[in-house]
Amino acid sequence: MTREVLGLQGLALPGYADFGPFRIPIPWVLDVPGGQSELPGSAGPTLASSIDPGSDGQWRPLRLTDGRHDLTLKFPVLAPEVSGSGEARPVAERVWSLLYPPPENDWTSMVAARPEVIVLANGRHLLSEGEPFVAALEEIRRRLGARPLLWVPRVGLPHRLALLAYLGIDLVDATEAVLRAVAGSVLDPTLGIVDAADPKVPWTCGCDGCRVGGAAGRVLHARLLLQREAEFVRDAARVGRLRELAESRQTSEPLLAELLRYADGRLGASLEQRTPVVGSGTTTYVLRESRRRPEVVRFRARFLARYRPPPSKRVLLLVPCSKTKPYRNSRSHRAFARAWQDHPGADRLHVVSVTSPLGLVPRELEDVYPARHYDIPVTGVWEEDERRAVLAALRHLLDHGAYEQVVAHLDPEEYDFLGPALSPPVPARWTLVDGRTTHPEAIARLREAVDRALEGTARVQGGRLGMVREELEALASFQFGSIAARQLFAPPLRLMGRPWFQRLVDPHGTDLATWREERGIFQLTVAGAERLTGTTECDVEVVPDLELVGDLFVPGVANASASIRVGDAVRLTRGGALVGVGEAKLPGTLMLELDRGLAVTVRHRAHPRPLASRQGHDRVGVPSAGPVV
Ligand SMILES: [Zn+2]
Repeated sequence: MTREVLGLQGLALPGYADFGPFRIPIPWVLDVPGGQSELPGSAGPTLASSIDPGSDGQWRPLRLTDGRHDLTLKFPVLAPEVSGSGEARPVAERVWSLLYPPPENDWTSMVAARPEVIVLANGRHLLSEGEPFVAALEEIRRRLGARPLLWVPRVGLPHRLALLAYLGIDLVDATEAVLRAVAGSVLDPTLGIVDAADPKVPWTCGCDGCRVGGAAGRVLHARLLLQREAEFVRDAARVGRLRELAESRQTSEPLLAELLRYADGRLGASLEQRTPVVGSGTTTYVLRESRRRPEVVRFRARFLARYRPPPSKRVLLLVPCSKTKPYRNSRSHRAFARAWQDHPGADRLHVVSVTSPLGLVPRELEDVYPARHYDIPVTGVWEEDERRAVLAALRHLLDHGAYEQVVAHLDPEEYDFLGPALSPPVPARWTLVDGRTTHPEAIARLREAVDRALEGTARVQGGRLGMVREELEALASFQFGSIAARQLFAPPLRLMGRPWFQRLVDPHGTDLATWREERGIFQLTVAGAERLTGTTECDVEVVPDLELVGDLFVPGVANASASIRVGDAVRLTRGGALVGVGEAKLPGTLMLELDRGLAVTVRHRAHPRPLASRQGHDRVGVPSAGPVV
């Protein structure tokens, strides 16, 4: 079985997969044909309409067919979902039925058999219980990895598809939807299950089923809607918005909100692993659930664990965030900047935006994903979890920064919850009397406060460029962790490039790394990656006999650090020696769990030659051109 993964969305691996003789888009809904009309555009297997009892009475066969190929799964007649004890057993070649939780021996046999498809036989019951369903998903993927397709029978209802896909369920079937329709329900992706018992309210969505009406019409409506929603889910996944869709569908059934909450907790680490560290476009954080998204949780966690304010920043200036991203380009922030841009000590001023759901975003982190890519509803009312995130970040800054003063250019009423954190020993001065942050009087007060706060603060060693270096190192620490950042920035080092000196170059003129502002990430060169020797967080070990030409694909990966996320700069090693650098296209764990796919786009290959004679494409500019900092 092979997955062709076209994207990562939560635990979903949208793309295509082989399932027995079939090739199906992921996620897929197995239709249950019931009548004459075949659904348009469903070019994949369906469940055969009649289920014949096994000839010897021992088995309950389930036939999948696409009209040309068949696959028969043989389940025991005493359906395990009613027999009461857990088990795992094969039901066809490389297809296993799992009644969760199975005994340890069954896990061992199933893992050894490397199944292509797992049918979670009691998934419907687990789902109704909420947390046990999420626990089962966690254990299945922990033990079997991302490779096998997961089919959960009898849970597929249109409004659930987005969340089920987000949780990594590849396959559902139309059985439950058809049963509900026969029983009198109309299904809707937004409203969930609508009671159609009242004949005064004929339901019509414009589909063929709704035009026919009655039970047969409801069934056809349900089948059509499932296919339509599955397509919509695949589209949402393709444009990177499956989580948003899953959140928006929660209002249809409280169970979905419960499942997402449990998933954000129990599957949080897996979700974060699957979430890229780069992004594009705009993500909306509208519902409360959006504040638990993996990239948000990661940003907050890395802020506390990896980020330290540049040590030469002496005055902390807190400002409100802006709708325009990055904030520094917004009208309000450009107005704020007029208050200090001519001040000779402006580089000692640490401009930090207060925002939800990220907490605090210092100026130098404004391009780090997702700080450059989000939009939120702004009401001036901060909920408890948003306040907590801001306060934790603020205390972290005050604990680790060398600030002598704090200036708060914030509406004192809206942000009064910051009060407890802004108590002595570092004195704080509030510059606003209301919410008008860019009023000329407000800017004048800001200028005066900044002037006074900067008065007498120590000059930055190395001047303006010294501060650029501190900020870049803070960024590198956010990306690579503090140890790797320190190694990358070990002196001697030059900063080059216009206009912001965002290229790190060694004294021989060899490029080490470049800060890509628009992507919010450092890209490494081979020489830069050499500086990270000894750290293994971004290492991908290639198989011994692979000649590295072009990009690195999954079969060429012998090992990969579990810390690697999509978008990360990675070191390619063989036998521990550096052979190249590139950008991760899969998280490290998936490089090992999948059978195929692009793992790393290779940017530079190492050319084994003595250091003294190093020259050629790594060599840039004139060595003495960049200032040493
Ligand atoms: Zn309809």
